[in-house]
Amino acid sequence: MTGKSAPRGAPYFKVRRSRVHGRGAFALRRIRKGTRIIEYLGERVTHQEADHRYQDRGERDNHTFLFIVDARTVIDAGVGGNDARFINHSCGPNCEAVIEGKRVFIEAIRTIQPGEELNYDYQLGRSPDDPPDVDEIYACRCGQPGCRGTMLWPAKKKPPRSAAARTPEGRRPKTSQRGTARKRSRVRTKGSAR
Ligand SMILES: [Zn+2]
Repeated sequence: MTGKSAPRGAPYFKVRRSRVHGRGAFALRRIRKGTRIIEYLGERVTHQEADHRYQDRGERDNHTFLFIVDARTVIDAGVGGNDARFINHSCGPNCEAVIEGKRVFIEAIRTIQPGEELNYDYQLGRSPDDPPDVDEIYACRCGQPGCRGTMLWPAKKKPPRSAAARTPEGRRPKTSQRGTARKRSRVRTKGSAR
């Protein structure tokens, strides 16, 4: 069980119901720190197209299947997405999203034990047209000691001066960067965030 190498092709995780939110991804075996677990797949569309697709979604739907590749492109895992879309947010995550060559990968930032839920910090960006209750719509219930109560980043509308410094950006090689998920823009209605 503690061997370094699982059978080639053995899945790292399975998707099942999560206490945190909807379904989640749970490790089936030990995943070593630094492991590239899965690529975040889906249709690649413009930000405008993503806005257009989800602006009229139901008010209870705070699920985000969007991931920012760059200023031009968003991955919509709601279309042709794989199981990476079920990996939940956490404020104290065991994975992170890495963008490399305009592709997005989920990598373990520490060794993960079998049965643990995989998660990464979505760091959903704030935008000027956010509704006043955006933090409720994207409330976080990850239960981590440092939970900031929201999937948005920074934690508060008015970012502290040290916000940039606290973003763990510096340790990545230049060829890759940390990625962030994207919320639907123009969230107009109050969600129950359940
Ligand atoms: Zn949290």
